[in-house]
Amino acid sequence: MSILVTDIGELVTNDPAADDLLGVRTDAALVIEDGLVAWIGDAAAAPAADERVDARGRAVLPGFVDSHSHLVFAGDRAAEFDARMAGQPYAAGGIRTTVAATRAATDEVLRANVVRLVTEMHRQGSTTVEIKSGYGLTVADEARALRIARESTPETTFLGAHVVPAEYAEDPAGYVALVTGPMLAAAAPHARWIDVFCERGAFDDDQARAVLAAGAAAGLRGRLHANQLGEGPGVQLAAELGLTAVDHCTYLSDLDVAALRESGTVATLLPGVEFSTRQPYPSGRRLLDAGVTVALASDCNPGSSYTSSLPFCIALAVREMGMTTAEAVHAATAGGAAALGRTDVGRLTVGARGDLVLLDAPSHRHLAYRPGVPLVAEVASEGAFRTARTLAE
Ligand SMILES: [Zn+2]
Repeated sequence: MSILVTDIGELVTNDPAADDLLGVRTDAALVIEDGLVAWIGDAAAAPAADERVDARGRAVLPGFVDSHSHLVFAGDRAAEFDARMAGQPYAAGGIRTTVAATRAATDEVLRANVVRLVTEMHRQGSTTVEIKSGYGLTVADEARALRIARESTPETTFLGAHVVPAEYAEDPAGYVALVTGPMLAAAAPHARWIDVFCERGAFDDDQARAVLAAGAAAGLRGRLHANQLGEGPGVQLAAELGLTAVDHCTYLSDLDVAALRESGTVATLLPGVEFSTRQPYPSGRRLLDAGVTVALASDCNPGSSYTSSLPFCIALAVREMGMTTAEAVHAATAGGAAALGRTDVGRLTVGARGDLVLLDAPSHRHLAYRPGVPLVAEVASEGAFRTARTLAE
């Protein structure tokens, strides 16, 4: 089955061979065949196809790649958010509130919440989504979280080392042994990645190394939460180990930035967190100027960033993080793909997946220029189109 998307006013391809960052083409058309991009060119020269979608001069972009989220949870923490906005500081320990609610929830409740949030993301243009565990923190609950996440995405991440649960408060070493032993064994069949919250109040450098090493031995690729609440060893560790991505990167020394440039590790910035915790925003400008690859992701979770919207993150990155609109859009598409080690998504080039967003706007610029406006008109996953209206149903 082939679909011709024609009369595209502005097509963002993210073609790495293009002269401009976004590989923008005007008056373009593309053909998706059997779920993959089969042809791109001028609308006037478009070949015939089984079906036709007329973009009527609007913008088409690669689907957003949200490389960082925590969707397997129960309950919410709206009261904690409210207290923070009233002046209380953010600390990592609030995670334990969600752990208690998640452990008490049935599979059906957790599954329904994941499906609800993935649908929300999709409606806002995210066609590839990573989902972490990390609110179970027992062998059975972590395996359950990953099993449920796997039903919605192949990009699942084992985050048993999210926080030391209350029952191990006096024995963090015992908890690390559990994570690297039986919990990893139960989680690994359902996970592609392993992650550690390497931060004061969570896990230190040595503990993070131990968890990542055990994960690598079990065939999982590593990523890290690091440098969110202050400078720390996490970013250097990610660079030293050549991890695919290190996420947050809010507080970076010059050495951290240099290490990221050297290693090629993607810096994933999560501005929804800074918005929701009133922390200072990281500088995307500083990383980009140093030649570091930057991704933008939602970090959707009930504690520190309960947004599922990459358009919102793009607007924040442009307004608060010194990024141009083109850089922010690139970071939310090709950057997210790089953070997941993927080249089949985050771009619209021949052979890539037919994952795209059709905006109710003539240009990608409107994503930051018109913040908070639902501009995503249609989303296609592997060429299957759904309008924002049917996505909501
Ligand atoms: Zn996170």
